[in-house]
Amino acid sequence: MLLSDKARGHTALERHHHKLARAAKRRRSGGNPKAIYAFKAWDEIAERMKTSDPRVVLLDFDGTLAPLRKDPTATKLSQRAKRLLRRLAATKGVTVAIVSGRSARTVRDLVGLDQIGYFGLHGSENIKNSPDISLEERRALQSAKRWARRGLRDFQGVGFEDKGLGFTIHYRGAGNAAVRGASQALLAAMAPLRHALNIHNGKKIWEVLPRQIAGKGFAVQKMVAQFPTTAGVLYIGDDEPDEKAFAALDEHITIRVGKSEATHARFYLRNPTEVLQFLSKLGRELQ
Ligand SMILES: [Mg+2]
Repeated sequence: MLLSDKARGHTALERHHHKLARAAKRRRSGGNPKAIYAFKAWDEIAERMKTSDPRVVLLDFDGTLAPLRKDPTATKLSQRAKRLLRRLAATKGVTVAIVSGRSARTVRDLVGLDQIGYFGLHGSENIKNSPDISLEERRALQSAKRWARRGLRDFQGVGFEDKGLGFTIHYRGAGNAAVRGASQALLAAMAPLRHALNIHNGKKIWEVLPRQIAGKGFAVQKMVAQFPTTAGVLYIGDDEPDEKAFAALDEHITIRVGKSEATHARFYLRNPTEVLQFLSKLGRELQ
């Protein structure tokens, strides 16, 4: 089996990902308008949030509040970001929550504020509750983890992050050959476990999660359903798992961070620095 597209330097997983993105774009052609720069649409966004009660601010973490790092364990949230989140969460009628692919505890430790909610594994767990995963899927996950801890050691710059009910393989710091090798090794090792586990693509990551973990779309719908229908909901994210949240929240304010050909978000911001500027402006507006 040909696993790598040498001409373009893409791995099989990346090609699969591009194919899905192109298909999503085709499906939507003629439908959704292109994402609008959020600061250009500021009046509309501010008005909607100001006149809604309550307000729910849902934020992805990596690539949204904090810049992506070669070494994900080196990620830190800036003091400015903490200040902004604290102020927003202290504003009357505002609920702030982080919805991340990392574990809920990891994100809580990175943010370190008591006033906001933490949802990990794409919103399927919070600090207190883990999702129900079948024994079969747990066993498959344990076996996949055992493989990943050893099987990826030979690929320089490829890292393993244990997330409890799943794991992430990071390859931002790896060269092309190592990425191709790791991709092939991962696909081969996961082949007998695909009945129980899914592999997801993110920005320079592959994630292995039990099939029962439904993703951010389902998670944010469940969260928003706990609020009155008058709630003003804002969601900001930067990556493929966030697209499911954007699609699920199509009645609300959705912002994708970074340029993307195909997005379900209505608005975009260029980078995490602009996200902080945006949250600062919003915080002032809602005071
Ligand atoms: Mg992200």
